[in-house]
Amino acid sequence: YLQPKYSTDSEEMVGAEALVRWHGKYGMIYPNEFISLFERNGFILHLDHYIFEQTCKQISRWIEEDKKCVKISVNLSQLNFEKTNFLDDYIFMIQKYKVPTEYIEFEITESAIYKDTQRIINFINRIHELGITCSVDDFGSGYSSLNRLKEIQADTLKIDGIFFKINDDENKRAYSIVRSIVEMAKNLNMKTVAEGVESREQVDLLKKMGCDLIQGYYFAKPMTVKDFEERYNKK
Ligand code: C2E
Ligand code: CA
Ligand code: CA
Repeated sequence: YLQPKYSTDSEEMVGAEALVRWHGKYGMIYPNEFISLFERNGFILHLDHYIFEQTCKQISRWIEEDKKCVKISVNLSQLNFEKTNFLDDYIFMIQKYKVPTEYIEFEITESAIYKDTQRIINFINRIHELGITCSVDDFGSGYSSLNRLKEIQADTLKIDGIFFKINDDENKRAYSIVRSIVEMAKNLNMKTVAEGVESREQVDLLKKMGCDLIQGYYFAKPMTVKDFEERYNKK
């Protein structure tokens, strides 16, 4: 599935995230039901690679068909970083499908960065040389390793949806934190994406704060590639 990301300013679709869905015998299964198992038994490495290959294929198809193309981000489990040469397989895919690297982004969770800082620093240096960008996923959800941010040259902070799922009493405090994250990201030359945004009110607040992108049900839910094409790149 693809979930669109919208520009906060123009409210146009400018990118998307690839999110896995499993079509089982009894219907669709969401990643929360199998990702943690796959992280325990190692199968996540195959899954991430598969989703990445599908993404490369899709981008190269859009280019071939002269359709509108946007940057697609894919999730990378922390386990990948324990395998020293995993990036080589990914680079092979990029070359195989002749994907311009400007259309690819990797999402790495805050917790992975906390665990494997040095490997992730090396990884980011390498992908930057290739023209690929990288975002810190679920930022603010765990041990926000502010100390690590000074070493990690990521391009984008994805502000976790937890800040937007709150009751009235906590609202003000949550928004102060989001505002500070956006401000900090700007000072670090990083972009911000707000995740899990479900209401117009939140969109308006994020606009005022200068958050760059919004990903959430307010604009669009994750959808099949077919639906995505029908909605956005008919050309
Ligand atoms: P994530 O990377 O944080 O992805 C965002 C999740 O938030 C998605 O759940 C998306 O459907 C959901 N979401 C987006 N907007 C809203 C909103 O406005 N409200 C609410 N309530 N939810 C929203 P999904 O697709 O079920 O994926 C769950 C998690 O599974 C992902 O969280 C990611 O950590 C993991 N995942 C998904 N695909 C992959 C993959 O290919 N590889 C790896 N390693 N992990 C994946
Ligand atoms: Ca993600
Ligand atoms: Ca996230």
